[in-house]
This record gives sequence, structure tokens and C-alpha cells, in this order.
Amino acid sequence: MKILRTVDDVRSFREGARGSVGLVPTMGALHAGHLSLVARARGENDRTFASIFVNPAQFGPNEDLAAYPRTPESDLRLLESLGVDAVWTPSPADVYPPGFQTFVNVDEVSAPLEGARRPGHFRGVATVVAKLFNVFRPDRAYFGQKDAQQVAVVRRMVADLSFPVDVVVCPIVREADGLALSSRNAYLSSDERRSAPVIFRALEAGRLAFEKGQRDANSLRRLVSEVLATEPLLEEDYVSIADPDTLAERTFAEGPTLLSLAARVGRTRLIDNVLLGGT
Ligand code: AMP
Repeated sequence: MKILRTVDDVRSFREGARGSVGLVPTMGALHAGHLSLVARARGENDRTFASIFVNPAQFGPNEDLAAYPRTPESDLRLLESLGVDAVWTPSPADVYPPGFQTFVNVDEVSAPLEGARRPGHFRGVATVVAKLFNVFRPDRAYFGQKDAQQVAVVRRMVADLSFPVDVVVCPIVREADGLALSSRNAYLSSDERRSAPVIFRALEAGRLAFEKGQRDANSLRRLVSEVLATEPLLEEDYVSIADPDTLAERTFAEGPTLLSLAARVGRTRLIDNVLLGGT
């Protein structure tokens, strides 16, 4: 596996890559969720590239950029064992050269939910993903449904700016008790870790009610909130019933609908979601 540092390194490696190229962008601290994206990319492409970059532009001033888990050696070992051909591990200056001032804003899709709580987050995401697409020129890029709004932002950007990339969205990988894998789960104390699966139980309660015919979005939101409230260590941030493409809140859960939520467990903020009535 080739380890690439500069934009020029990536460009020249890309030149020599024959056949289709799949790209898996990550921030490292890899877990089975990331690895499911890599495995899918490997299965669908002649060459598989990954990136590991804790992107400062998508962290707010009071967020966990400095504390974000970093496990570079084991990340590289895992990627190599899965047959990744090359990984880009840039420094911030490789991605944002001196004088950098060009950003991608995906206006409406970035505005609600995570975007409202994390101002500038999706500007950072869209900008770095645009840069990754320009540098790697992948045929396919792999993202997790775990970050549902990120998926909507990237899809909108790809359509609006005509990137010649297929965005492939992979299902959420969960622990046995339902907790969605996340690099941030490493922050949880053992008590917090025991509380966190209530997130999945709340989403499941919403999904079950939907499957039994409940379509009123307020009733579904309330039901999910009530389940979250049973766990004292957890504090709800939002529960949303929205259009999965535009993230506009729905009155009725008709057609494909995204049930998503964010909650704090101690100092750790977790997000999760389930698609209702869709694929
Ligand atoms: P991150 O390193 O957090 O930026 O995540 C890199 C990619 O892995 C993103 O596309 C995430 O949506 C995806 N991902 C993170 N957690 C999971 C999970 N539990 N299941 C599936 N994909 C995931």
C-alpha cells in the first residue's frame, strides 16, 4: 500500500492507476463502519484509495479537533490488510495551502440539524470532499448513511457542480446492542457507554410506529423523544423527521423519510438515524 503525502504524490499515483477507482474518505480512528466502506469499494473497483484527514475546516472553535482520536499506525495496518492500494494522509497545509480562500457552500441542505448546531461544519465537509474529488478523480466515492446529512450535502454538491463521481452510500454498522459505530464512542465512560444504546431503541420505536401506520411526524418525534428521556445520562439535542434529500422537516412521514437525532451523553455528542419507507 502506497502512503501519499502531497497533492502531487496523489496525482502521480492516480495517473498510473488503471481501471476504475473507488475512494473512501475518512478522518481515521478506523472502526468496522469505515472498513465496511473499504470492503465495498474493493468489491466494486479495480483500485481502492482512502484518505485519512482530520479536517480542521469542519470543526467549530469549541469542538473536539485537538482531542479527536488519532490511531495512524493501526489505521494504516487495517487499510493495508483490506487491500487498499493507496492512502492519502495529508497535513492541513497540504490540503489548505497558504492563502487558501475557496470554499464550497451547499446552502439549503447544510442549514438545518447538524448545520444549525455546527455552523460552518458542512462548508468544511463540502470543501474537503470537493478537493478530494479533484485530486483523486475517483469513479466512485463511498460514504456512510451514519452521517445522513453529509450524504445529502455531498450528493447535492456532486449534482450541482457536475462532479463525474458516483456517490455510494453504505448502511450503518452497529454494535450488538445497536449503538452505531463512531470514532467518538471512544470518549464514552463505561456508564455512558451503557446508556448510549437508548439511541437505537428510540429510533427502533419510531420505525416500529411508522411500520404500524403512524405517519404524523409530531407523534413520531414525540415517541422517539420519550424513549430518549428514559435514560438520565442522555440529553436530547434534536429529533427530526425530514426529507432525506433536502432535510426539510415533514408534517407527515409520506414517501422516503429520514428519522434522525442527535443527543449528548456526558460531553460526547452522538448522531444516528434510520430511513423510513425507503430502501
Ligand atoms: P469519519 O471518519 O467519521 O469522517 O467517517 C468516514 C466515513 O465513514 C463517513 O462516510 C461516515 O459516514 C462513515 N461511517 C462512520 N461511521 C459509520 C458506521 N457506523 N457505519 C457506516 N459508515 C460509517
